[in-house]
Amino acid sequence: MFAAEAIPKNKRIIDYAGALIRNDEACAAREDEYLKDGCVWVFQINRAWCRDAAVGGNVARFINHACSPNCYFEIVDKTIWIRASRNIRRGEELTYDYHIIGERTIPCRCCPGCPNKI
Ligand SMILES: [Zn+2]
Repeated sequence: MFAAEAIPKNKRIIDYAGALIRNDEACAAREDEYLKDGCVWVFQINRAWCRDAAVGGNVARFINHACSPNCYFEIVDKTIWIRASRNIRRGEELTYDYHIIGERTIPCRCCPGCPNKI
């Protein structure tokens, strides 16, 4: 996803929408299913809840991971805000660090030769 206009530092850009799922086995099972296709749609809010962007998600789910991102997320109650971590120029790709808990299985493509997995 790319910035259609310049975005000032700390601005709330979009909320990460998706079905609110109680974090029992359901979250892990859904995540495993999507990861098979290389997709990361399940956003862990806390120990009790996750959001599944494959159900009722918005364009926020297309924001890619990067190890040196220009956005970060902030969780307010059960809302996940994607915010600018610095001033972003028009046309820049928006990225944030997924901070995935647990097994990281997808090679990171944030830059050529990134050694990390997401
Ligand atoms: Zn990376």
